[in-house]
Amino acid sequence: MKSLWEDGEAARFSGPLGLRVYTSRLLGRERALVLHGGGNTSIKLRERNVLGEEEQLLYVKGSGSDLVDIEADGFAPVRLARLLELARLPRLGDTEMVNELRTSLTRASAPTPSVEAILHAVLPHDYVDHTHADALLSITNTGDGEARVREIYGNDVVVIPYVMPGFELARFVAGHFSMSAHAAALGMVLMNHGLFTFGKSARESYERMIALVTRAEDYLKHHGAWAPVSRTAPPLTMAPVEIATLRRDISTQAGNPMIVGVHDDPRSSAFARRPDIAKISQQGPITPDHVIRTKRVPMLGRDLLSYANAYRRYFEAHATGARGAITMLDVAPRVMLDPDLGMLTVGRTARDAEIVRDLYAQTMDVIERAQRLGGYRALPAQDIFNVEYWELEQAKLKRSAKPPVFAGEVALVTGAASGIGRACVDSLLARGAAVAALDVDPGVTTLSARPEMRGIVCDVTNLEQLRAALVETVRAFGGLDMLILNAGIFPAGKRIAELDDGEWQRVMAVNLDANLALMREAYALLKLAPRGGRVVVVGSKNVPAPGPGAAAYSASKAALNQLARVAALEWGGDGIRVNSIHPNAVFDTGIWTDEVLAGRAAHYGLSIDDYKRRNVLGVEVRSRDVAEIAAELCGPLFAKTTGAQIPVDGGNERVI
Ligand code: ZN
Repeated sequence: MKSLWEDGEAARFSGPLGLRVYTSRLLGRERALVLHGGGNTSIKLRERNVLGEEEQLLYVKGSGSDLVDIEADGFAPVRLARLLELARLPRLGDTEMVNELRTSLTRASAPTPSVEAILHAVLPHDYVDHTHADALLSITNTGDGEARVREIYGNDVVVIPYVMPGFELARFVAGHFSMSAHAAALGMVLMNHGLFTFGKSARESYERMIALVTRAEDYLKHHGAWAPVSRTAPPLTMAPVEIATLRRDISTQAGNPMIVGVHDDPRSSAFARRPDIAKISQQGPITPDHVIRTKRVPMLGRDLLSYANAYRRYFEAHATGARGAITMLDVAPRVMLDPDLGMLTVGRTARDAEIVRDLYAQTMDVIERAQRLGGYRALPAQDIFNVEYWELEQAKLKRSAKPPVFAGEVALVTGAASGIGRACVDSLLARGAAVAALDVDPGVTTLSARPEMRGIVCDVTNLEQLRAALVETVRAFGGLDMLILNAGIFPAGKRIAELDDGEWQRVMAVNLDANLALMREAYALLKLAPRGGRVVVVGSKNVPAPGPGAAAYSASKAALNQLARVAALEWGGDGIRVNSIHPNAVFDTGIWTDEVLAGRAAHYGLSIDDYKRRNVLGVEVRSRDVAEIAAELCGPLFAKTTGAQIPVDGGNERVI
């Protein structure tokens, strides 16, 4: 591993915290050091308070920041003297500790200091860096890990046996680390946890981290344990309905809908197919930091596809004595492995599932390297249980924030690249859903880089493409809860006498036939939605009030309306709700260019503004207005409504 320090870059950071911010970001750039908010850094500074007194402060990474893009105000300033006093207490509960950390801040708006703040405080150095480096964990997590660590580093590091993170660890280090005894130490290895380095400057502490990790990497290379295992495995196939069934079972266990990602890439598949997979994957996480996200790794199997069975077996085999305390909380797994299915990752949101995927990718590296060093060995089950229980306690403290209404749910929107469809995507994302956005326009793939959104190029009139889009949606998110049938075309006005069969059929194919096909193909998935499936059909004012010159359009939307009503009847018993909305005169969509709008307004002898508000309420109807209704129809407010038709048109005399 190389130092990423560059003088030119460093010069752009000023103030006492500046270089602390800079080298923290350098750590964050190395995924082999820290991942997704892992790791933390600090600096000790003297500052004058408003009374003119000089105080020593510890600026330590606060919760909610990621090292890769941390800013100066992502560090929490805590009174150092207070932290050192706390470190002398015989014990301190989690809630009490968090309370003490928060009430020792000198800036009311600061984030909550890292739970490792007291540990940073007791290390007598100005700069402290902490990571969970892959290379080091590959070495500490083996049977003779401590001997190997001593062989690699000699007296350059202080070796601390595993102690549960939080107050206990800080107290242990306070009692075992002394400046006189360890004046020459460059860092501190925490067995089965990670690495600390320290120094007089940001650069010194950072470059010591890089140097110590490089020594671990060299050791692994020297012992033939560095290069990745060859990862070739044929791609696997799992039917969408099987995945959705699994997701439904996991969601039932979790008590709320969960996102499930399927990863049968060669690497994950090869790992899941190792002959020793049942042994190596069941031991526990590589660092206590990962406990909640990677501890529970049930092995599935074709014959055990009923996930509940597999999980029950797993739990019975691995749960420790106090399991009653755990089962009250969320016991859904976060990673599942199967020789046939590859890796599946689970999260409350698509982002959570993605984080789990990244953490487990790191886990695979560490386990495989440790295996080659003589055998991966995680912490004893009791230690893992303690951290898990502690983490769950922490999570309970945080749980006051209510999750968004569609957290863990999956929506599919057609015609999603522009207009009402695109607005629907935004409204659903804003409510916490993961969204598959389909459009024939390739631009749909670049609408958003968020893990919650998957843009899929799809011509809805092509059955093969529709099926492929459903497969992609289910592989990305695990199932389908909401379907927004929005894609449609509105051809130029033509009287019946001039309407040719080709045009009629083209309109019917997009506005009607494609929706039938998608509803049919999605039905089995919607049936498995943990909270019941929902379909919203974007109809038209033309259904109740057709207009001359729009025969094909009006007929297609009227037929679609009838299709939706029949679906509401047929699917009600499956808990699937089907409702329609009838927008009118929504002008911020692709088909209404400024030119067309000006032409239509002139045709009625109106200004563009008046033309847009030509309805009973005299209001302009925007895509967002329609999308918000569509999203709400999927939500709890309409939980007991199906077969409804709701106008979104500002009021139309012919409809009213
Ligand atoms: Zn740590």
